[in-house]
Amino acid sequence: MKCSKCGGYAVITLHYSQTHLCRKHFMQMFERKFKRTVREFGMIKKGEKIAVGLSGGKDSTVLLHLLYKLSKKHPFELIALIVDEGTGEYRKKLIENAKRECNILGISFKIVSYADFVGFTLNDAVGKNKQVNPCSLCGVIRRRLLNKAAKEAGADKIAIGHNLDDAVQTVFMNLMRNEPLRLLRYNEPLVNSPEFVQRIRPLIRIPEKEIAVYALLNGINTGESECPYAQYSLRKEIKHKVNEIEEKYPGTKLKIFSSFLQMEKLMRQSVSDKDFVLSKCKKCGELTSSDVCMLCRMLDSISL
Ligand code: SF4
Ligand code: ZN
Repeated sequence: MKCSKCGGYAVITLHYSQTHLCRKHFMQMFERKFKRTVREFGMIKKGEKIAVGLSGGKDSTVLLHLLYKLSKKHPFELIALIVDEGTGEYRKKLIENAKRECNILGISFKIVSYADFVGFTLNDAVGKNKQVNPCSLCGVIRRRLLNKAAKEAGADKIAIGHNLDDAVQTVFMNLMRNEPLRLLRYNEPLVNSPEFVQRIRPLIRIPEKEIAVYALLNGINTGESECPYAQYSLRKEIKHKVNEIEEKYPGTKLKIFSSFLQMEKLMRQSVSDKDFVLSKCKKCGELTSSDVCMLCRMLDSISL
């Protein structure tokens, strides 16, 4: 296959735009898309401190490399927060990978573990509480832990390696749970409070497959084993379905994401701050929309 731009040897075919690209033109397109997304959403200001939520997998590791490169041109500070859920060998390998990449780039990192934060590993909790959905518990702990660690590190933003596929899955998950307003916090904070460190997702316009190809072409080490609990996640089921549709109708993911951005704009016009009144959780004191926050409710429902 020949590159649609220069006629050179193509390394990838982008079905959604019916183009083939050589290494050089793919890299250009990829990095441009990343930078445009950062600009489009005003994700990073000069001098800010950005904490990357680093799993050691391909998305967050590629994000770390891209942000590192960008920070050399538009100075901002970069640190990595490596989360240890406590899921055995799979996690240990990814943590080693994450540490190695930070050392290669000279980025300081901190390992933050569920065990230190809530007093148990995910494996412990799931092993003793068969009724618990691992991903629901994991997601709630991770969100709170990253926020806490970023605040302690003095970070202005938390950068997450969510790609286009993740963004589309999140849209479906929120619709299926009848929680459309939660989508409003995807690109901007729902409530401006110093208690919440804003999250940014600079890869949301890039399909997962392109991130894997970019990592490969740049010799970026990525740990590719899958979390042992991924099979229980609604996200994984949606991923399969969306991939099937994308294969039949290329460009579907991009169209769903564009629709989401339009819906997000409309929804923002019809809600006000009054719709998001927060008070302190009666148990832990963190801001929440109900009497007791989701994390405390989940911790109450499990026995260890
Ligand atoms: Fe956590 Fe589920 Fe992701 Fe595993 S697949 S890391 S349990 S959210
Ligand atoms: Zn609480």
